[in-house]
Amino acid sequence: MSPLETDIPALLLKKNQDKRLRSGHCWIFSNEIDSEKTPIKALQPGEQVAVLDEKELFIGFGYVNPQSLIAVRLLSRDQSHPISESLLVHRLNIALSLRQRLYAEPYYRAVYGEADGLPGLVVDRYGDYLVAQLGTAGMEALRQPLLNALDKVFKPRGVLLRNDSAARELEGLPRQVELAAGEIPEQVELSEGGCRFRVSLHEGQKTGWFFDQAANRDRLMPLLRERRVLDLFSYVGGWGVRAAQAGASAVTCVDSSESALTQLLENAQLNGVEQRVDSLRGDAFEILRQLKESKQRFDVVLVDPPAFIKRRKDQKQGELAYRRINQAAMQLLSRDGLLISSSCSHHLSGERLLGLINQAGRHLDRSLQLLISGAQGPDHPIHPAIPETAYLKNFSLRVLPRF
Ligand code: SAH
Repeated sequence: MSPLETDIPALLLKKNQDKRLRSGHCWIFSNEIDSEKTPIKALQPGEQVAVLDEKELFIGFGYVNPQSLIAVRLLSRDQSHPISESLLVHRLNIALSLRQRLYAEPYYRAVYGEADGLPGLVVDRYGDYLVAQLGTAGMEALRQPLLNALDKVFKPRGVLLRNDSAARELEGLPRQVELAAGEIPEQVELSEGGCRFRVSLHEGQKTGWFFDQAANRDRLMPLLRERRVLDLFSYVGGWGVRAAQAGASAVTCVDSSESALTQLLENAQLNGVEQRVDSLRGDAFEILRQLKESKQRFDVVLVDPPAFIKRRKDQKQGELAYRRINQAAMQLLSRDGLLISSSCSHHLSGERLLGLINQAGRHLDRSLQLLISGAQGPDHPIHPAIPETAYLKNFSLRVLPRF
């Protein structure tokens, strides 16, 4: 069957614009389409299309957004399988089987967009509850078949749409939070590394929890035993509460959000470690200044900020912020301390982050040893042909006097 014989409209690529797609990437930019022969502007945001190369050979089925720089995202390379509910069920089953193999308990990112063959879709699983983010007009258009497919594959008690990310605006979509199916309690409990956490799926950061750091936390916890730990940008205690439970002697958590810190202290209690956890509310940069002034020292400082570089135009300012925060963190370390520094900015490479940390170290006359490098956990798989799917860096560095 030629896709041109179906009622799915076709888009032709310009010459030589199929290379990236054939290597596995699934995005097509608007300037790669032969708009004279197949005008993309005639299509509706979210509409399904068949993409053909300039010789009219089939490449794949995707959805379109003529208003976005990323004009098409492909979901299927199989001519006999256009986008449908059954394709979504198939993709969800493949995504789920990976997580079931990797995780003993149902708390993880269940769908990670492009890397799971479901561009524009993120689903986090909190046991019986799902939080989904539909990031594109194409996913928005698939909302009903997607909800049906989620129901079939996960049988959730509730599905919340956290469609409040800024990326939706680039797609011309409204930002909103909406209960799409069943019910979602005020607070939901999850477990990670033997700790229990309560989070709010309605009001928490992103979908409510940062599953992407779970594997890094698992790996690094043994280094925190009997250490005095400072957890910057702590949110509800993913690092800090786990550190206390892993045997850290004292943990100070810093966040600007009152509600995050209230939740964090509840989570400390839930795990019986409230005696060893305290919190400071305020801007992390400012609190670092105060801690330095009062000559406080820590054996380990964790730096896990929100993305300082959200867009290319933030590059310079953002890099400066990474350098400043890591420099200030290093200044609070005791002799032979450990800096555990993360960045979730896609636009900052690991190499560049290390370079910035090194600059900070040299400025302070410290020698650094990189001990462990981490990335996002395997429930956020990286597609080798889609560099945009890799974003998280996590470096553990020993900080010594200059040698
Ligand atoms: N480390 C956390 C995730 C951090 S999310 C985890 O692994 O779960 C980023 C957090 O930084 C949010 O809780 C937000 O409230 C906080 N935050 C953002 N800007 C801040 C600032 N300038 N100072 C202190 N906290 C800030």
